[in-house]
Amino acid sequence: MQGKQPLFSFGVISDVQYADIPDGRSYLGVPRYYRHSMLVLQRAVTNWNNQGTKLKFAVNLGDIVDGYCPKEDSLNAVEKVVSEFEKFNGCVHHMIGNHCLYNLPRKDLLPLLKIPTMDGSAYYEFSPTPEYRFVVLDGYDISAIGWPHDHPKTLQALKVLQEKNPNTDKNSPSGLVGLERRFLKFNGGISQGQLKWLDEILQDATHKKQKVVVCCHLPLDPGASSKTALCWNYDEVMEIIHRYDCVKVCLAGHDHKGGHSIDSHGVHHRVLEAALECPPGSDAFGYVDVYDDRLCLLGMDRMCSTEMVFNS
Ligand SMILES: [Zn+2]
Repeated sequence: MQGKQPLFSFGVISDVQYADIPDGRSYLGVPRYYRHSMLVLQRAVTNWNNQGTKLKFAVNLGDIVDGYCPKEDSLNAVEKVVSEFEKFNGCVHHMIGNHCLYNLPRKDLLPLLKIPTMDGSAYYEFSPTPEYRFVVLDGYDISAIGWPHDHPKTLQALKVLQEKNPNTDKNSPSGLVGLERRFLKFNGGISQGQLKWLDEILQDATHKKQKVVVCCHLPLDPGASSKTALCWNYDEVMEIIHRYDCVKVCLAGHDHKGGHSIDSHGVHHRVLEAALECPPGSDAFGYVDVYDDRLCLLGMDRMCSTEMVFNS
């Protein structure tokens, strides 16, 4: 790509999962650095700002505060992370993740993250240039976390878990086989209403000859993610995406180790490495240069650089 100027560029970071608590481990034993993750975010923002006017915006793929954050400190912790993001000389497009929802209900979280909403849902879209459209999906639209306990979407999610996961602890994949391992309480699904909206956006983008980048906290392709981290109805989402030719890349977080795949229709799936799991002094963030025929992720340190060339 030497000599060729990108159409635009944007910053990326995922799973900061900050909390003012001592370091710990995931249930699989992977070390987590709850306080250091704030430093990773600070270095990300400094790096993005050092690019001058190059970056048009930044995307945060979700989970800014960890579920272990003491409840009385949740609001303070979310505000602290948001204020770090606000030091970026540009707009930040946020996604909500399960950890955000363990801390605050949607009605408090969405205004803090300036996520546009009509009914508490957190999906939206924007177009940074006439050639490109970004679709941000709400992976916890159907979820047992984040909505009031008696909300129809909570009840719908509990029904899914009841049918698909026989364990008492609905966060346990014990006994679940293959792709069925995704039916866990810390994951969620996309409602029929949101699927319909996605279909309309992709139709419109096709009509306008726009290329689309889909962003979702939850991964949408088994090739790029652990089965236990997938969106419940990733298959329904991909069925819609595959009806059109406009979606070129899907970005996700949630599955901290990161991943990259190209699916059967040539769509790239890039799951980003978590800021939370960077040992002190190391980093996981980056920025993406967008061209008419590819996205080039330039990753820092533990975030792998990835060139995603589109199917012609
Ligand atoms: Zn998550």
